[in-house]
Amino acid sequence: MPYQQGNRLPPERASKLGHLEVIQSDLVQKLCKSFNDPEFVEQTNTISKWEQLPIDGIELKIIFSTDGSIQVIENPNPPFKAIAFVKSALLRVDQYAIAKIDKDTPNPFALRDLMKESALYHSTAFPLRNVFIEGKTNFNSIREIMFESVKDKGLNDSLEGAMMDTLKWIAYEKWLDIPKQELERFGCPHCEKNVATLPYNEEKGKCPECGGEIFITDMFGLHQSMTDDFAPNQVASDYMGVSETLMIFTPIRFYWETNRVILKNCLFVKDGPLSLRATLAKLSAPIRRFFEYAKSKEIEVAMIGQEKSGQFYDHLQLIGNSASPNSFFIPDNRYIQEHIKHNNTAAVYGADTNYGAKLFVKMNDYHKMVINIPTGERGEFVTSPSQIHLINFKNIIATIPKILSNKFEGALLPIELANKIASLSTYPSAKALELFADATKGT
Ligand SMILES: [Zn+2]
Repeated sequence: MPYQQGNRLPPERASKLGHLEVIQSDLVQKLCKSFNDPEFVEQTNTISKWEQLPIDGIELKIIFSTDGSIQVIENPNPPFKAIAFVKSALLRVDQYAIAKIDKDTPNPFALRDLMKESALYHSTAFPLRNVFIEGKTNFNSIREIMFESVKDKGLNDSLEGAMMDTLKWIAYEKWLDIPKQELERFGCPHCEKNVATLPYNEEKGKCPECGGEIFITDMFGLHQSMTDDFAPNQVASDYMGVSETLMIFTPIRFYWETNRVILKNCLFVKDGPLSLRATLAKLSAPIRRFFEYAKSKEIEVAMIGQEKSGQFYDHLQLIGNSASPNSFFIPDNRYIQEHIKHNNTAAVYGADTNYGAKLFVKMNDYHKMVINIPTGERGEFVTSPSQIHLINFKNIIATIPKILSNKFEGALLPIELANKIASLSTYPSAKALELFADATKGT
């Protein structure tokens, strides 16, 4: 390891001259000659089982999409102050509005109008490290901010605390005739015992063991990765994952409570996998149970998550070219462990965290994608999903061609638009730094 950069002197650079001796070694030359490229096409053609896409679905007309973004502003000099900005957005578009947009060269003003009229968004900021709120530890500040953020009213009160209502709807499984009477027990942020809970419909209360104040958002367990004065960037990106999930489930909850038949005509599109990592997975099980319950009431809620990077996406680049147009392939647990995750394990991939099955879809030579679709089998995780397990699969497949964007390979227009709204990369960085400086005055 070279020396790290100091305040006054540049970092040490690793010398490239040392590489020469390695290349001159007879053994290294011999080994390199024996390294062949694997023939993925032949190998995976025989193992991956592509099937024809169904053609008898009905197009879904109302589309919601969500996306989030995060920007950590970290001062490069000691004491390395760090603040995270998080933004998440929900967008509603109907097929009529999408049809009016030019798929190749969309008019930016048409896009702006569409987004202005039908987008909700929420932003927040977390003091991660070496910056604090008077009289509070970062640990408690972040817990409180997380709670207040989920209760956020949004710009012009547009959210009206809808994310908190959605969180309670999922956590207490309010769709049931008899909802959960208390939250599933979780680790108390004060006494650390796995006894914390809240009675039905409460947002905050006291730990039954130590009497410390508990927020409903503590159920995510993010405090487990924080100390009094230090929180990793992951805490902010985990919050983003939660807020995107609450955003996309808000219209689902709304229609479920008011006029659930509308759900039969909706497609919910999320950027990223249908998955909640680590302790956030506390929400995955109730979400799976909801899709199953709704299906039993003859409401098949159509949702997809699109993965635009990662191991599944990379794998599609290997196997997708040789597949036929209008086909799909659902890898089972064994295929995922062996060929995608490269794990030598009997464990079931995603059993705790995922609320959708992953599938590779090839519409044509230009548009191929990795999507996740919720499955329904008694609320359990399906280890070897097939077409019949995928909720509302036929209608989802009938809708995808209508929302494809020609701007990027495999791109979906609703995600592209949600991206634009949620993006923090257009956030003027000078302004952000100014905010940063203001917020940390006198520290
Ligand atoms: Zn406690």
